[in-house]
Amino acid sequence: MLTIIYKRKKCIGCNSCVLVCPLFFSMSKIDGKSVLLKSIKKKENYILKGIDNVFFNNLIKAKKICPVKIINIVKY
Ligand code: SF4
Repeated sequence: MLTIIYKRKKCIGCNSCVLVCPLFFSMSKIDGKSVLLKSIKKKENYILKGIDNVFFNNLIKAKKICPVKIINIVKY
């Protein structure tokens, strides 16, 4: 299973993660930053747990393409 940890505060709103991973990310019309869908906020981070491993390659693309490196994927 996979967990996404997203440090939303530093998002610059480039839209790249949404383009490569629209199942998990969407742009907010309110503040222009990306939203990690269905995530839970814990302090500075937004966290989404229990993701199937089939999404690993797709999520790694989002992690790699993010210019400010605020998307992390943990495998457990
Ligand atoms: S790729 Fe990174 S900076 Fe760009 S919208 Fe997504 S989280 Fe924000």
